[in-house]
Amino acid sequence: MLKVQGLCKRYGDTEVVRSLDLDVRRGECFGLLGPNGAGKTTTLRLLLGLIEPDCGSIEIDGIAVPQHAREARMKVGVVPQMDNLDPDFSVCENLLAYGRYFGMEKSAIAARVPDLLEFAGLAGKADALIAQLSGGMKRRLTLARALVHDPDILFLDEPTTGLDPQARHLIWQGLRRLIADGKTIVLTTHFMDEAERLTDRLAILDHGRIVAEGSSRALIESHIEPVVVEVFGEGLADWTRHHAASLCRRFETVGETLFCYLDNADTVIDALKHAPTLRYLHRPSSLEDVFLKLTGRDLRD
Ligand code: ADP
Repeated sequence: MLKVQGLCKRYGDTEVVRSLDLDVRRGECFGLLGPNGAGKTTTLRLLLGLIEPDCGSIEIDGIAVPQHAREARMKVGVVPQMDNLDPDFSVCENLLAYGRYFGMEKSAIAARVPDLLEFAGLAGKADALIAQLSGGMKRRLTLARALVHDPDILFLDEPTTGLDPQARHLIWQGLRRLIADGKTIVLTTHFMDEAERLTDRLAILDHGRIVAEGSSRALIESHIEPVVVEVFGEGLADWTRHHAASLCRRFETVGETLFCYLDNADTVIDALKHAPTLRYLHRPSSLEDVFLKLTGRDLRD
């Protein structure tokens, strides 16, 4: 559904996207992850034909972008990072106006509106003004709006950033429905749990390059020990000095926490029983551990 080969983009001296290859299958949910500045939004803008690449090729369902970007965009639904609903229009009018961009007849759009509102959990809100909607409602409307012309593929740029947990779950529910309907989704996110839940495969980008790609489970299995014990509390430095190297397969101290990576946590937990001032969190390793191992813990902005 989406094929990208050798894509690159530079701004001034900075190579923002470097020789990127992507192959997203029809019906797949594909995640693009990466720290701030990794090049995710630039990649999405290139895929939409909004900016010109310096090299490489993009095909959406066999249509070359940017050469035939207008034609390709008919197949694409977009949820941008910032909601850009028209505040002067009602919920229904926003859907109608958006459908008109795609050359749809007003009657054809109107016929889709009830389903789109139901999908967005906004049934009964057709005449509400945008200012009357909560952040979660606006996001859901933006998602419904992206579906007006029944696109095959959706590009979602951080669809749940800024939402509370309840609102995020509603968006996830909507996205799972779209995946079940066979839509292809390309999603950027900073939420590792979101990527783990929704994506079939994902790529981790850093400095414009893919540093790892695969299913969340495969990435965890290939990059990280299966178990983590996070240790914190009074006396951590001493305990780390005496025990970490011998008990942990791999460890690092970040701030006031020791991350001890292991195949099995039994021995470490036994040892911690003799250190009553320390507390610990024992958990399976996660995509976030992979992400931090590959992209580092330094702040990017
Ligand atoms: P991400 O979405 O992963 O946070 P972006 O694609 O927004 O990353 O940005 C990648 C890099 O490209 C950043 O260093 C950013 O400052 C730079 N960049 C993005 N757009 C422009 C632009 N129009 N002009 C110059 N630099 C840009």
